[in-house]
Amino acid sequence: MTERLYYDNAYLTEFDGVVEKVSVRNGKRIAALNRSAFYPTSGGQPFDTGMLNGARVTDVFVDADGEVWHEIDGELSVGDRVHGKIDWARRFDHMQQHGGEHMIAGAVYALTGGMTIGLHLGAETSSIDVEFADGTTHADDALIRRIEDYVNIRIQQDHPVRCWFPDADELARLPLRKAPTVKEHVRIVAMGDFEMVACGGTHPSSTGQIGLVKIVSAAPARGKLRLTFVCGMRAYQDYRANYDAAWAAANALSTRPEKLAETVLSLQNRLKEAEHALNALRREKILSDAHSWVERAAHTQEGHLLITEHVDGDMAALKDAASAIIREPNRIALLAAGTGEKCSLLFARSDDVDIHMGKLLADAVKPLGGKGGGRPDFAQGSGPAETLEAAKKML
Ligand SMILES: [Zn+2]
Repeated sequence: MTERLYYDNAYLTEFDGVVEKVSVRNGKRIAALNRSAFYPTSGGQPFDTGMLNGARVTDVFVDADGEVWHEIDGELSVGDRVHGKIDWARRFDHMQQHGGEHMIAGAVYALTGGMTIGLHLGAETSSIDVEFADGTTHADDALIRRIEDYVNIRIQQDHPVRCWFPDADELARLPLRKAPTVKEHVRIVAMGDFEMVACGGTHPSSTGQIGLVKIVSAAPARGKLRLTFVCGMRAYQDYRANYDAAWAAANALSTRPEKLAETVLSLQNRLKEAEHALNALRREKILSDAHSWVERAAHTQEGHLLITEHVDGDMAALKDAASAIIREPNRIALLAAGTGEKCSLLFARSDDVDIHMGKLLADAVKPLGGKGGGRPDFAQGSGPAETLEAAKKML
């Protein structure tokens, strides 16, 4: 069985060992050693990468018997002496995220009594789910800030982090946050005197090395509260990205980041007012144009006044124009707005005209690839502007 060197020293980056077993999994070579500092995917923490002699380690996992296997892109044989080297930047990042997770879990328990389950350490963010006794799945901003304060104050105090395998008597006396899931070889991690739980992962040797913890979202997930967070360099990079984004937006608006929300809200209000005024002007123009449309209108064979116009506006403008036109008797309005294959189309008629607008629009627009229909006196649809000419020929 592999001796797991990271249990005693999470800072061991190079080691020597002997290949004890080789095999193939999913077409890839795998090797088990007598001893290894490589962390295998477990407890929500991903595997280490690195080198075994000249072979790159691309995955590390534990089999059902507890043996640690290294997936390699080179060749190793049983009995080979190997020098292992783990990718420290990746490992230390995982240690920071994992250490931060313990601190958040401890803070949640200390402040609310909520129990955390299921660490997921992702490539960008990590998450844990919180179960509250009253079934609540929400946390307000004030609670999230209290958790962040609790954690970051204890990071700055730089408490020691200790990992060890207690005997049964000692284990029974330890004030663990929750009961261990394993019965034998229980490994304990304690952070200062405020957090103690069973864990087989890798952690920094003091809380100060976690650097900074920021909760980036708190949202319900599967009946629990999911806290998503970043720690260490990830938190620093997140701060820098947000700082840059906030200043870029603030500079564009000639303000400061702390005034951004206020400035954007005021801009939105001004934009709404401007749109409102523009729509009112467009409507006014269409209504005044409607008079000239009537003047140049044609007559159908049955003697109805036929207004066919392509209008600069939207469906709301078309409705205004149509209702102004058909207020007088004996009129038919065939109106379009927009360009291309999906113009807004509106057909309407005066009450005394006995022609079905819905049917007329459907018959004219369908052969042209558009769609539309409606009531006998009023119909709307979308299609090419040629629909107007097609409908005119049907009258
Ligand atoms: Zn841990």
